[in-house]
Amino acid sequence: MTLLFDRSFRSSALANKYGYNEWLVGRFLQYVPDIERFLQKMEQAPAQYIRINTLKTSRNELERRLLSKGFELRETVLPEVLQVVRAPMTAGATNEYLLGYYYIQDLSSCIAVDALDAHEGQLILDMAAAPGGKTTHIAQRMQNTGSIVALEPNPKRLRSMSFNLDRLGVANTCILNTSALSATGLGKFDRVLLDAPCSCEGVIAKDKTRKTSHSPEDVDYCASRQELLLDAAIGFCKSGGIIVYSTCSFAPEENEAIVDRAIRKFGVSIEPILYGTEALSRFGDNEYEKNVQNARRFYPHIDNTTGFFIARIRMPISS
Ligand code: SAM
Repeated sequence: MTLLFDRSFRSSALANKYGYNEWLVGRFLQYVPDIERFLQKMEQAPAQYIRINTLKTSRNELERRLLSKGFELRETVLPEVLQVVRAPMTAGATNEYLLGYYYIQDLSSCIAVDALDAHEGQLILDMAAAPGGKTTHIAQRMQNTGSIVALEPNPKRLRSMSFNLDRLGVANTCILNTSALSATGLGKFDRVLLDAPCSCEGVIAKDKTRKTSHSPEDVDYCASRQELLLDAAIGFCKSGGIIVYSTCSFAPEENEAIVDRAIRKFGVSIEPILYGTEALSRFGDNEYEKNVQNARRFYPHIDNTTGFFIARIRMPISS
């Protein structure tokens, strides 16, 4: 009782101080470590990262060009991703950007592709693809070989996607303007990426309207759509293949609960990821399968990324 009262008092005070809906801060208090530092970090512009497009250039060549323009860059855990520490102009306004030598992309988003472990010659499905940040990263990991099928129902987002594929020199991708829930006859894939549509809580630092714009009902709506999408992903993946499920939400209902349900329903397992913070073992009255903790949460104040969740899901081997 005292604990609940303390939490409610604290969430109200923090929500007022930082301009959030109280219900959202009340939830963060239950699972975000070091909440005040987290809320302070969300007030600051997020770190900026660029992903070097090795289909068109090398890291040495791009670093040489950007350093000569006055950029200051810092290496990250992935060799093809650099943090932009100082930029004399917007990173999207250089010749190198227009030439497709890099893509502006958060480190957490690149770690999702790293977890997919794509190889040359494979057949890969990107189920929710636009504007193509992860599709183009997968293509470079595959050296433009094999095939990627990229699905996207929103025609407006497709335009920027085809522009990005073109700019980055991607030549192994077929885009289908369809919902992943109605796509049929595609066959089975070695790897499936489901970068699911979500409530976007993780990008509050970029879009402050997210502090107050969504409700618990929106989280429930996203979660029910994510369940359907992950069921479809499992149907698209070969026996023993890998599915990466990711969101830019902090909500356990959109993350751990979705993966937990897939373990119980389909016997999939969750494999470790090298970076990020261990996923939750429980939320509210729900205790998740132990394996769920192999998934990873990415927090702005801990990982210096936007908020993100990644689960690397291994399909069972069918006999
Ligand atoms: N993977 C993209 C990237 O890295 O650039 C970002 C994807 S964004 C998080 C989610 C996308 O899912 C949106 O473009 C949205 O239009 C799309 N989407 C929504 N419902 C979908 C569905 N039923 N099937 C496939 N994609 C869907």
